[in-house]
Amino acid sequence: MTSTTERVLVTGGAGFIGSHLCERLLAAGKEVLCVDNYFTGARSNIAHLLDNPRFEAARHDITFPLYVEVDEIYNLACPASPVHYQFDPVQTTKTSVHGAINMLGLAKRVKATILQASTSEVYGDPFVHPQREDYWGNVNPIGPRACYDEGKRCAETLFFDYNRQHKVAIKVARIFNTYGPRMNPNDGRVVSNFIVQALKGDPITIYGDGSQTRSFCYVDDLVEGLHRLMETDGTVTGPINLGNPGEFTILELAETVIRMTGSRSRIERHPLPQDDPRQRKPDITKAHAYLKWMPHVPLEEGLERTIAYFAKTYF
Ligand code: NAD
Ligand code: UDP
Ligand code: UDP
Repeated sequence: MTSTTERVLVTGGAGFIGSHLCERLLAAGKEVLCVDNYFTGARSNIAHLLDNPRFEAARHDITFPLYVEVDEIYNLACPASPVHYQFDPVQTTKTSVHGAINMLGLAKRVKATILQASTSEVYGDPFVHPQREDYWGNVNPIGPRACYDEGKRCAETLFFDYNRQHKVAIKVARIFNTYGPRMNPNDGRVVSNFIVQALKGDPITIYGDGSQTRSFCYVDDLVEGLHRLMETDGTVTGPINLGNPGEFTILELAETVIRMTGSRSRIERHPLPQDDPRQRKPDITKAHAYLKWMPHVPLEEGLERTIAYFAKTYF
């Protein structure tokens, strides 16, 4: 790698959001080092970047130390879907906590700015709606989602303590449900599940009565928000919500996917998983004020692109 260009480390760079971020950073002229242990990511997500001389990929698990020289770090490594983060919950907590310590130690040594991919899950099953950054959340510390929620909360704690104690330059983004091409078709998240089921003509699996809500952000919008947050001056640490405030019930999502795919799939009810949040919608006042950011891709347009990707890639 040359020394004049900014060198950026993306952990979890072979994942869904990470691979789009790597693309965005290369387009901005940066050198990108992607590290990933390929637990939920895939080499195919970054295969098209390997010919770029400013791109490098390395297999590495961030629960172990990493010694590289970089100017910026985006810490995205962590399984993100309930099915995957509950597969090995201890490893999930290790990835969030040990991973954060290692990446913060690295940022401290090389004086890099480090951005944490935090999550709306830090609000748990929220009593405040829509969720603002000053809401402390309602998280069950011992439930099946805790490895992820509490892991991410502890990572935020570490980020702010490294900032206060060691003057590490930090940026914390709280990402709300994001969807788009390169979602893992087997990770059980609602958008990919419904699209795959609709394209196959299989039943659409609604957990509970489908009245729970989520706000879905298209991946290109999200990645733009992450990039803008990293580019802010040192006074901006976050946490800053990044998500699309458009709020939909899961039943509405199912009906929209069925209509858009022209599928004959019927709706099938399944039990609601334990601790499943009732509602979720970001207040993005801060993102607008600090980043001049707001999402631009409406749900149906994003779904159209995502459906086209799944149809082309898997059918
Ligand atoms: P993803 O599962 O596609 O990507 C995560 C990547 O991290 C994968 O490539 C995986 O192999 C890698 N990884 C996991 N553990 C690792 C480890 N110990 N060492 C190195 N690499 C490891 O998920 P995503 O949706 O792209 O999520 C990326 C980040 O954004 C995650 O930190 C997630 O918590 C956060 N986030 C995502 C959403 C969303 O809706 N997609 C919402 C909130 C937060
Ligand atoms: N670390 C790393 N890469 C570095 C510097 C540190 O992976 O370039 C890891 C290292 O394993 C250490 C952790 O980050 O355990 C925390 O580093 P810090 O300097 O905060 O703590 P210490 O080294 O004193 O434990
Ligand atoms: N969900 C569903 N059917 C599915 C997958 C998910 O009804 O096949 C529901 C799930 O119970 C939750 C919502 O959709 O209420 C979003 O689930 P996802 O796993 O995508 O994200 P998260 O719960 O982490 O927001």
